[in-house]
Amino acid sequence: MTPLPAGSVIGILGGGQLGRMLASAAARLGFDVHVLAPGEAPPAARVAAKHWNAAYEDEAALKAFAEACDVITYEFENIPVASVDYLLACGAIVHPGTKSLETSQDRLTEKRFLNEIGIETGSYAPVSSPEELKTALETLGGEGLLKTRREGYDGKGQASVKSGDDLEAAFDSIGHVPAILEAFVPFEREISVVIARAPGGATAAFDPSMNDHSGGILRTSIAPCGLSEGVIARATRLAETLAQETGHVGVLALELFVLEDGTLLANEFAPRVHNSGHWTPEGCLTGQFEQHIRAVAGWPLGPVTRVFEVEMQNLLGEEALAPPESYDPDAVVTLYGKRDAKPGRKMGHVVRRTAKA
Ligand code: AMP
Repeated sequence: MTPLPAGSVIGILGGGQLGRMLASAAARLGFDVHVLAPGEAPPAARVAAKHWNAAYEDEAALKAFAEACDVITYEFENIPVASVDYLLACGAIVHPGTKSLETSQDRLTEKRFLNEIGIETGSYAPVSSPEELKTALETLGGEGLLKTRREGYDGKGQASVKSGDDLEAAFDSIGHVPAILEAFVPFEREISVVIARAPGGATAAFDPSMNDHSGGILRTSIAPCGLSEGVIARATRLAETLAQETGHVGVLALELFVLEDGTLLANEFAPRVHNSGHWTPEGCLTGQFEQHIRAVAGWPLGPVTRVFEVEMQNLLGEEALAPPESYDPDAVVTLYGKRDAKPGRKMGHVVRRTAKA
């Protein structure tokens, strides 16, 4: 791919905070950003050159968007694959493409794909009725996590179940949709590898971060992750395999459970920039947002050397309303400009940096 010159137009499907940070990084590199997302003034649209307020399924808008943009990317994994196919049919260049998008939209397809390419996961079974759930519970040791196959995020669409529970009620609680049952993984810690792949196949992985969740929502990411070089090298190789096998162009994130003995089991992957990589702009020579823009624009990937020890903390709901002087002076605060601080909603994040030991 010939590198896109500054002044070109990069289109982003999706209008949330990831799009906002991608748009800011793209603007810094001299690109104009157009955001296509439904709604009056989503966070990304307020820092972009142009907002297309349209549904992702609106073919007339997609066609015009394809004509207006030199390359199109996305910030949100629930963009309909049919919309990306339509953009491609209109002659648009779309990075990352559809393989990683389509695979990650369905937990069952995703887990099967990961296993096929040699990335281990915990045990799981597809379930589409309370009867199948009963059988799956027997196979998986009597307890597990029931998760919708599609559209779950931040712990939503999930229920913890065990044999003897009211399985009809458990199925109702996730909306009676096709699901999987996952065995509980007795992890020692959770890490993620955020990696970029360029159109020619070159990759660059950030140091893995250790991630702490509460109620299914990411609270903090810390780098370095405290694991041995051997485990880090294995985790990085898994992310490289995933990026190559999907032919992904841009940034993706692989979330891994680490067992006491160093075994790595994949939880899931995101075909986009990721919350657990929010420390990279402040902690590394190139941040994940700039890296994604570089990849989709056909620019060489930037160096991912980490230059600080970092801790990223998400600001949820009203936590983001704290006055700036309440943060310690070394902290770098990013706020997403969301109007409504609902409980648990990701409103911003803080990155604390210390000199590398
Ligand atoms: P998910 O939405 O699948 O990423 O799950 C959110 C968080 O719930 C994960 O980051 C883990 O902390 C926890 N979790 C999810 N699946 C499992 C599992 N099978 N075993 C243990 N913990 C899990």
